[in-house]
Amino acid sequence: MKVLVINCGSSSLKYQLIDSDSEEVLAKGLCERIGIDGRLVYQKEGLDKEITEAPMPTHKEAIKMVLDALTNDKTGAIRSLKEIDAVGHRVVHGGEKFACSAKVDDAMIKALEDCSDLAPLHNPANLIGINVCKELMPGVPMVGCFDTAFHQTMPEKAYLYAIPIEYYEKYRIRKYGFHGTSHSFVSRETAKFLGLDLNNSKIIVCHLGNGASVSAVKNGKCVDTSMGLTPLAGLAMGTRSGDLDPSVVEFLGKKLNLDASGILNILNKKSGVYGLSRGLSSDFRDLADAAKKGNHDAEVALEVFAYRVKTTIGAYVAAMDGVDAIAFTAGIGENDGATRARIMDGFSYLGIKIDPEKNKLRGQNVKISTDDSKVAVCVIPTNEELAICRDTVAILGGDK
Ligand code: AMP
Repeated sequence: MKVLVINCGSSSLKYQLIDSDSEEVLAKGLCERIGIDGRLVYQKEGLDKEITEAPMPTHKEAIKMVLDALTNDKTGAIRSLKEIDAVGHRVVHGGEKFACSAKVDDAMIKALEDCSDLAPLHNPANLIGINVCKELMPGVPMVGCFDTAFHQTMPEKAYLYAIPIEYYEKYRIRKYGFHGTSHSFVSRETAKFLGLDLNNSKIIVCHLGNGASVSAVKNGKCVDTSMGLTPLAGLAMGTRSGDLDPSVVEFLGKKLNLDASGILNILNKKSGVYGLSRGLSSDFRDLADAAKKGNHDAEVALEVFAYRVKTTIGAYVAAMDGVDAIAFTAGIGENDGATRARIMDGFSYLGIKIDPEKNKLRGQNVKISTDDSKVAVCVIPTNEELAICRDTVAILGGDK
């Protein structure tokens, strides 16, 4: 099957066309600045990137341009849209309704509309992507893959906040967790790579990118994760604060004369390693360079980040009563050996030993712990698009 994977943001859209049999990416790219001016990046496998500036007032024009590029006479990856067998959509929030990927139908669209207030920045954009694809590719089956779905197996003790229970019952306020497609993919790949039986394993996945989260995966099922009702919770991130005392919101609000959404804007966009480094950067490469040159703020930002990941791993060892493997993934997790080393420093009580030479390797599945380490530590590149493609095929298996 040829599966078009769509990840729609509020002003951008990433896409990949994947042959599900060979799992080869036939073409990929993104649309940026939708609603502002418009820029299409398109790359067919084996060819250079093409960049086209063209007006994209809405996602409809953007998706039209993607489909035109895919079927272009000279550089297209397919001859006609009829070759697209299915579309897999990334959807950020599935609330409690979706514990796995599911076929898009009217009931799903209604359910997504109903839980849009849980992800007001993301779900409306995901819905637009679904509706535009329905319009432009009528009859092509579509699947929604939720960032929250993999975490729906968490037990109550992990997902309930200790606030009056009516707020959970009435408003569904609870921990949902995000990056689920990545945590699911990476935990499976880790088990495969290390020869573990997924159904009898304890794996901690550290998805460390600009957004970052850790999950505890026991016997293939998520039992805890660090993000919460929204992706603001948990670890310190590129620009997000992660966990803090909720009283900070009122305290800082009074000091700065801002309302709750003004403070949340600071916690989402001006905090994390960016805020700690006094606005130097949210990119770990810049922070590492600055720290090497003696910038104390950058050094502290890197320390805070690593400390949060380390203490979360410790908590999840407790949650699972042990751990067989720890996997690092996403931009920082896959590429930044120095940050991995900082995180893993101090786990000798678990018998963990990192091999500094292996820890320098990048961009591939690799075990970075020594052969006599009691817990395997590895780097497993994530591939959310491939995970969405696989889910799409699995869900539509009966239809095609
Ligand atoms: P992601 O959100 O998964 O795309 O990750 C993006 C982040 O990964 C960037 O902001 C960087 O902080 C980090 N990153 C990417 N490449 C490297 C690298 N070679 N070394 C250190 N950090 C990196």
